[in-house]
Amino acid sequence: MGDECVTVVEMSIGPLEAADRADAVIRWLLDSGVVVSNPLRGSTWQPSGYLPGPRASDAAPGFSDTDYTLANNGVDILVERELYRDTSPHEAPACPDCGYELAEATLEGLIRPWLDGTEPRVTCGGCAAVRPLGEWPDGYLVGELAVRFNNWPSLSPAFLADLGARMGPRWRAVREQY
Ligand SMILES: [Zn+2]
Repeated sequence: MGDECVTVVEMSIGPLEAADRADAVIRWLLDSGVVVSNPLRGSTWQPSGYLPGPRASDAAPGFSDTDYTLANNGVDILVERELYRDTSPHEAPACPDCGYELAEATLEGLIRPWLDGTEPRVTCGGCAAVRPLGEWPDGYLVGELAVRFNNWPSLSPAFLADLGARMGPRWRAVREQY
């Protein structure tokens, strides 16, 4: 079995704000004890910058003491413009209003414009509703700031909401598998 991550992505802030908010998010995660700095950062056993802290179960109630010794269960703060996609389950993006599915080819063609510039607005082929690409569930997201939890138990909704609000006004949690 591969690694499974939950990555919280912020879609609306620019690179300068992303750097500021990243610093604030790291301070909050450290101060609350959810993570600790990784003294062995970069090792194959624990490559991430941060590891589960003494209060990790506040964020992910499924954490038991033994889980702290798992390989690759660190937390990464990603501050760069990057493409993300929820990979589990891999559903076609469907219109929230009418269920019309966006063709993969259409979706693929919109990635580069978003990565290189602004978020495309997509007209639904079923009901003609227009919404930004990031509002199509199971599609792609582009963000300047993300926090990735590698192989953590499920994050609590309250923790996710708190973390998301600290990252910015428009965030999503995606599940990724490697
Ligand atoms: Zn529609």
